[in-house]
Amino acid sequence: MTELEASWPQGTECVAKYNFKGTTEHDLPFCKGDILTIILATKDSNWYKAKNCAGKEGTIPVNYVQKREGVKSEGKLSLMPWFHGKISREQAEQLLSPPETGMFLVRESTNYPGDYTLCVSCEGKVEHYRIIYKDGQLTIDMEEYFENLIQLVDHYTENADGLCTKLINPKLEEGTLAAKDAFCKSGWALNREELQLYDSIGKGEFGDVILGDYRGSKVAVKCIKHDATAQAFVAEASVMTQLRHNNLVQLLGVILEKGSLFIVTEFMTKGSLVDYLRSRGRIVLDGHSLLKFSLDVSAAMEYLEVNNFVHRDLAARNVLVSDDNVAKVSDFGMTKEACSTQDMAKFPIKWTAPEALRDKLFSTKSDVWSYGVLLWEIYSFGRVPYPKIPLKDMVSHVEKGYKMESPDGCPAVVYNTMKLCWSLDPCTRPTFHMLREMLKHIAAQGT
Ligand code: ADP
Ligand code: MG
Repeated sequence: MTELEASWPQGTECVAKYNFKGTTEHDLPFCKGDILTIILATKDSNWYKAKNCAGKEGTIPVNYVQKREGVKSEGKLSLMPWFHGKISREQAEQLLSPPETGMFLVRESTNYPGDYTLCVSCEGKVEHYRIIYKDGQLTIDMEEYFENLIQLVDHYTENADGLCTKLINPKLEEGTLAAKDAFCKSGWALNREELQLYDSIGKGEFGDVILGDYRGSKVAVKCIKHDATAQAFVAEASVMTQLRHNNLVQLLGVILEKGSLFIVTEFMTKGSLVDYLRSRGRIVLDGHSLLKFSLDVSAAMEYLEVNNFVHRDLAARNVLVSDDNVAKVSDFGMTKEACSTQDMAKFPIKWTAPEALRDKLFSTKSDVWSYGVLLWEIYSFGRVPYPKIPLKDMVSHVEKGYKMESPDGCPAVVYNTMKLCWSLDPCTRPTFHMLREMLKHIAAQGT
């Protein structure tokens, strides 16, 4: 055990690497994959007092568990760190020297545009295998076909299957890190065998969301379709490993194996807030429920504010409702990275602050603007914002200071709060901390 591991503070999360039956009644038995939270160090640095998900406490052997941390990295986390883009045959050979059997990279083919080349170092020589792109599939030998390069590389990593050697060590592109390693090392990789997939429950931009079962709990699984969008997926998942709050949809882990890419999160039985508001409406939802949703979201946003994280896509469709009616913010797909390459046409114009639309100036303050629109959605029971204005005229109206009218029956104090969020000058908008205080005050007065 290293020195570092010897000093796990209270609250540290760990994942069990092996099963532990326990030998005395003081021990806390666990199974591989269980999440445990450290409570106290003991006199013996090999043992910690910990508790499991059910709240049961006991001592655990430290070498049976792995610490779970946020995935942060200096370099770019990549699912294809071995992909070097358009480099020449000579450059590839240079990159693969000194020779090390099994070292490989993938490049775009220079001779056959649209195809790729797998370059593998083998007993002092570099072999170049042409990867043919045919009818949406990739193949080297016209026998095995793959949907994407990740699947192809995974296949030949397991088995040489006709190549001079199986793939062993990727030659990383400069400045990149293998996402898979990063998720494994920080304790966020889940075991595919323990996940069952059922029906589709939603459609996302990057792929379907499917209801699943992971070790006996219902989970939502975001499945990735193409390797082209995979990078955004990695960014979203790595952001989620760094966040923990009761009003944020919790990440359970990711699966990156055999070419399948999944983000596994807690399952929110009541679906998206916008659908929830529309289907229940005024008759079911009273002022108290609406205020509670508003407070839930403000708590999540205050947490993001404190941690300097900008959401960029806050809207009722991206807030989900749990079985016990807790609203939780989800959809962290619009990270800075994903966004800088995104064209503005795809932006949720009606929710985005004018300075963000105009100059791409995203900040906690632009999230505050979106929060104002979200409040409007809540109090109008899920109506589409700016109902009377054609989308093409919206930006110019808003820039001139146009603000939406109060939803029917919305308390004046709540409407005033929305209007503060829609101040054209970002600096004069309230902070999420202030917003939450205002809403708490409104709640205390029983509006
Ligand atoms: P995207 O990033 O592509 O917008 P979302 O994360 O918003 O994808 O998911 C799309 C839809 O899938 C949501 O609107 C919701 O209906 C459903 N969904 C997503 N995550 C969950 C979850 N954890 N529990 C229940 N439903 C979910
Ligand atoms: Mg969404």
